[in-house]
Amino acid sequence: MRRFNAPLLQGLMLFLGALACVLTLHVHAVNSQTVHSKLANFRPVEVWRPAHETNFGKRYAKDIYGRPVSNAPIVVLHETVISAASTIRVFQTPHYNEDEQASYHALITRNGTIVHLVSAKNRAFGAGNSVFRGPNGPEAVKTHRIYPASVNNFAYHISLETPADGNHNGNYHSGYSQAQYQSLAWLVARSRIPHSRVTTHKGVDRSGSRKDPRSFNQRSFNSLLQRFSQLDESKLTSLRPPMIGELDFPPLPQ
Ligand SMILES: [Zn+2]
Repeated sequence: MRRFNAPLLQGLMLFLGALACVLTLHVHAVNSQTVHSKLANFRPVEVWRPAHETNFGKRYAKDIYGRPVSNAPIVVLHETVISAASTIRVFQTPHYNEDEQASYHALITRNGTIVHLVSAKNRAFGAGNSVFRGPNGPEAVKTHRIYPASVNNFAYHISLETPADGNHNGNYHSGYSQAQYQSLAWLVARSRIPHSRVTTHKGVDRSGSRKDPRSFNQRSFNSLLQRFSQLDESKLTSLRPPMIGELDFPPLPQ
């Protein structure tokens, strides 16, 4: 009969088990560190295609009744429905008829390029007849004699280029690219606007006609935003959320 040393064997098994655990943890740590540093080094391509000055305005310090307004900024997410190139063309076309004036601050093309159209310090015309229902109650500002109150005075509007199969009025399409989610999360994190004040056109619309951004993967966006925000916090520890007058990015092209 072969004799073996049971405690020694048990010890060996324990040691091998622990070694496997340590190796697994190490591989996991290296992986998440790689993802972490990939995000930390991520810089999307950014370009300026300034909208024509008829398609945006100044942010108002008072509403139409002369009452001071001091809403903290919100982010409103949209989709273009048409191509990015056509969208840019529309915003760069002078529109002297107020009914035709429209703009976003930025749009993100399918390959993740951020196209800046209107400086964040100005008021883009992205969501007429709208209200933001957040923790502070309903927020909207009436700035025009005829048009209804809206969130435009304190909104930063970002639009995602719709995929080719989404150029219609239906409820769904094939969704947005990973590059778009990454650039979007990076841009929202850079704005330092808190997650609780990030909404969609559908979320603020009061006309009942807006449903964008359709087929938006909220979970992908949330997880990327959280990771980018953490990176940002580690670099800029004392930053508080910005006031509307402090939104001033990116620098205008020379
Ligand atoms: Zn929209």
